[in-house]
Amino acid sequence: MIGTRVKVSIRCLRCGERFVLRGKEEKGRIETGFKMCLCNNQVDFEIEPTP
Ligand SMILES: [Zn+2]
Repeated sequence: MIGTRVKVSIRCLRCGERFVLRGKEEKGRIETGFKMCLCNNQVDFEIEPTP
């Protein structure tokens, strides 16, 4: 079974940039394929599902 499709909003905690992406939720984890922010941050993000 394929994970549930969700829309997620990702906020970079370094520069404050926001991204809205489609992802999928699987086993309580959200996969978006998002790799890094424009500011080269790859780790400090706040990720929230959006309704
Ligand atoms: Zn950033």
